[in-house]
Amino acid sequence: MATLSYNKLGLTGKILIGMGLGILFGLLLRNMLPDSPFVKDYITNGFLHVIGTIFISSLKMLVVPLVFISLVCGTCSLSEPSKLGRLGGKTLAFYLFTTLLALVVAVFAAVIVHPGDATLAAEKMNYVAKEAPGFAQVIIDMMPTNPVQAMSEGNMLQIIIFAVIFGFAIAHIGERGKRVAQLFDDLNEVVMRVVTLVMQLAPYGVFALMAKLALTLGLETFGSVVKYFFLVLALLLFHNFVTYSLLLKVFSGLNPFIFIRKMRDVQLFAFSTSSSNATLPITMETTEHRLGVRNNIASFTLPLGATINMDGTAIMQGVATVFIAQVFGIELSITDYAAVVVTATLASIGTAGVPGVGLIMLAMVLNQVGLPVEGIALIIGVDRLLDMTRTAVNVTGDCVASVIVAKSEGEFNEAVFNNTEAGKVAHSFNAQVHISENQSA
Ligand code: ASP
Repeated sequence: MATLSYNKLGLTGKILIGMGLGILFGLLLRNMLPDSPFVKDYITNGFLHVIGTIFISSLKMLVVPLVFISLVCGTCSLSEPSKLGRLGGKTLAFYLFTTLLALVVAVFAAVIVHPGDATLAAEKMNYVAKEAPGFAQVIIDMMPTNPVQAMSEGNMLQIIIFAVIFGFAIAHIGERGKRVAQLFDDLNEVVMRVVTLVMQLAPYGVFALMAKLALTLGLETFGSVVKYFFLVLALLLFHNFVTYSLLLKVFSGLNPFIFIRKMRDVQLFAFSTSSSNATLPITMETTEHRLGVRNNIASFTLPLGATINMDGTAIMQGVATVFIAQVFGIELSITDYAAVVVTATLASIGTAGVPGVGLIMLAMVLNQVGLPVEGIALIIGVDRLLDMTRTAVNVTGDCVASVIVAKSEGEFNEAVFNNTEAGKVAHSFNAQVHISENQSA
């Protein structure tokens, strides 16, 4: 009976159970057997590490083929250069707008709430900042010199550029191109099917990731930066639930509650993996099959968003910069605040969608406004939890943009969006995978 009702649970329910049990298991073990070498070697760094890493690897495994194949399909069907240009322009403008909005609110809130206490500066700083790349180099690096290398390194922007050029060429060579496009369409189906298979593993993967986190997370520094932590958290939640809902309503007239409900799985994946890139297969699957965005839009907006659109990261970087200035007793002028907003926008664009990079890129913002990079040492202890939460915000921002752009381009299926059952992943891999899917309507 018990297994029967477990099977009836949706994927979200199973992931939540995995998450809760994982945290419970980790905390219990941590308290019952503290400092046990057995737990450390065989459980934390053994079994949990293996399961958690395999789960994340299985997601990452799909990212490159999925982005390439899906984007080639998308570009083939967007063969007019003017449409492609308009789509690119709209998407970039929207991404920039939401990031700036997030930053202005974050910096403003940090100034008002004033989380930084000057006495913290006395704490030992032993953070050695990694060098953040310059902005010019970021632009140059977008052009692939070798697409195979770009794929082997998982360099998303280079893959995007190569796929767009490739897809564009396919669309312009007549009959032969049609045959190749058909092949890519079929390949896309195959990869999507593998995504749904990997999704079934999520409850176990999430269990391992959360248990390991509960066993290893050190919160020693938590007390001193508690105000910073809760301010960033509150701003992330505000952006996720209020700002995005308003944007969705204003720009597309759609019901934000439906959107929030359908985003749950994507957010859980993002939260547990702390990686926009690793979550990309689920983001694409959900946006296309549950939210009703057609492939030609989603395949373009989402990989781009996972790479450059990081509203959650920008919020952290904005608050962190103001916090560090306050801790070191450095007064910032209005021009400095403007510089924080601009450089944090660029830093969040340059942040890769993998765990913890937002904190490395924070060094670029601190350098720009002349603040001590060692200040990062203060917040590093609480960054893991904030990284998880901001990644969920980052991917939600990509989906909001995708829906709004798709709606404005007439590439959106509202019936799918409004149907609560649409695209739900069935429980067995062999069963019909997407329930009530109505993409072609
Ligand atoms: N982990 C974040 C992401 O993947 C990036 C960051 O802020 O570190 O979206």
